[in-house]
Amino acid sequence: MSIGLISKTELHEGSTYYAQGGISAVLSKMDSIDQHVEDTMEAGAGLCKEDIVKEVAKDSKEIINWLLKQGVKFTKNSSGQKNKLHLTKEGGHTYPRIVHAADKTGEAIQESLIDKVKKRTNIELFTHHVAIDLITKKKKYSSNSQCIGSYVLNKKNNLINVFKAKFVVLATGGANKVYLYTSNPDTSSGDGIAMAYRAGCDIANMEFMQFHPTCLYHHKAKSFLISESLRGEGGKLTLPSGESFMHKYDPRGVLAPRDIVARAIDNEMKINGLDYVLLDISHKKTSDIKKRFPKIYNECLKFDIDITKTGIPVVPATHYTCGGINIDKNARTNIKNLYAIGEVAHSGLHGANRMASNSLLECIFFSRKVLEDIKKHGNEKHEEINNDLKNNTGKKVSEEIIIKHSWKDIRTLMWDYVGIVRTNERLLKAKIRISIYKKEIEEFFNKNIISSDLIELRNLICVAEIIIVSALARKESRGLHFNTDYPKTKKTAHDTIINVNLENNIKKYQEK
Ligand SMILES: Cc1cc2nc3c(=O)[nH]c(=O)nc-3n(C[C@H](O)[C@H](O)[C@H](O)COP(=O)(O)OP(=O)(O)OC[C@H]3O[C@@H](n4cnc5c(N)ncnc54)[C@H](O)[C@@H]3O)c2cc1C
Repeated sequence: MSIGLISKTELHEGSTYYAQGGISAVLSKMDSIDQHVEDTMEAGAGLCKEDIVKEVAKDSKEIINWLLKQGVKFTKNSSGQKNKLHLTKEGGHTYPRIVHAADKTGEAIQESLIDKVKKRTNIELFTHHVAIDLITKKKKYSSNSQCIGSYVLNKKNNLINVFKAKFVVLATGGANKVYLYTSNPDTSSGDGIAMAYRAGCDIANMEFMQFHPTCLYHHKAKSFLISESLRGEGGKLTLPSGESFMHKYDPRGVLAPRDIVARAIDNEMKINGLDYVLLDISHKKTSDIKKRFPKIYNECLKFDIDITKTGIPVVPATHYTCGGINIDKNARTNIKNLYAIGEVAHSGLHGANRMASNSLLECIFFSRKVLEDIKKHGNEKHEEINNDLKNNTGKKVSEEIIIKHSWKDIRTLMWDYVGIVRTNERLLKAKIRISIYKKEIEEFFNKNIISSDLIELRNLICVAEIIIVSALARKESRGLHFNTDYPKTKKTAHDTIINVNLENNIKKYQEK
């Protein structure tokens, strides 16, 4: 099998690299697969697919063993039990089941796997290449399309290549950059979801965007999370005036679940017209703070914030895209020979709210499924297309400011109108505004020389529209989706499935 691996920047750059906490697996004797399933389903608020959750939980131990064989250096148990891995507990998990490599789990997994990939002679790497769109073909007398490749921009020479492939696997990550504040790296611009959508894939449950309650707020800081453990160790959430507010929202105060804390902060910011709130641990002993939170202490100090003396300005930030390209249990999309894995996909594992540390597990689980499926179908006859190069036609963009301005506008619009707490009025206003941007950017895209920023902007607008339409379609509040016009949760849960025929989608859900 010959494989081309395309990555739009350096190979390691993506959310995986930044994953700190770990990867969930049933390894302890006191734990069970049934309990992992129950915890995941509970977090998912009625929308998890039970068969998928069961399969993933069942394979978790084998997946950890496979990663160990690839050389991933997980943290060992210090209690003297030889070769036993250290397990921690995170929100939603009944038992300690988080395997980790200190607080750099994603980096450790990536390092080992990238090392293996580089040694394989059948894998060709194409870094600084950006996939623009999928190439699909309809077979004669068939209504189903088949994916036969992708248009790809080589950022180094600015040429558009046609990559033909028997099978295409999208593993392009989430769409969290669609919001002004995010914990994600710049790569998470929803490219895979937008490409699949334009090609005719079903996109599911995009209204469920997970927000982390506390991300550092500073005009120069990018995507730095302030861990939940800071609140666990006594950190207080206050307004800039010093007034605490969490007790008004939940008896558990700052230790309420993530979505409740994120909604409370969002509400206080909106009613008080604030840019941020403060997370303050400065009342604790300086030496204790430095010992317990060395990374947070040093990172904040870079921005002249001494957390031993003052509160940390924080805002909630988008963290995880629960919805995505709808896939079956083998990671197949509704387009033949097109697969999707990881955060770009909607497998049914996370439902309406992802449980912490289940996402890295999902990535590996479905990668293995794709491999099995391709091995089964690899010998079938496939369409041939020429592997030609295309000129990047159009005018050189002399109006870079248009791209920069639109990026900022869209992310601000999504933050203000389609954020943590939603209303019908704001969603409808956002829909009108985003459709104007969409028309404008499609014209711009067709006339100008295509750049990486332009590709991402086009995708960002596409995904923003999908999120808005999905949020409008859901006439209830469930999991991560909260609409004050429909505060109750319906008895029966259903997925929101969107495809290219957007207006029909809205009609379909209006009739429900
Ligand atoms: C700060 C942070 C902490 C987290 N902590 C945890 C944790 O502890 N445990 C856990 O389970 N999950 C955690 N998550 C979530 C988890 O890391 C992600 O869900 C997961 O890593 C996603 O992997 P992925 O392979 O789907 O996407 P990514 O790792 O984001 O990789 C996507 C890749 O696709 C490339 N790409 C995108 N678009 C294109 C294009 N158009 N053309 C070419 N290449 C493209 C990107 O360059 C990138 O290399 C965390 C996430 C963040 C941001």
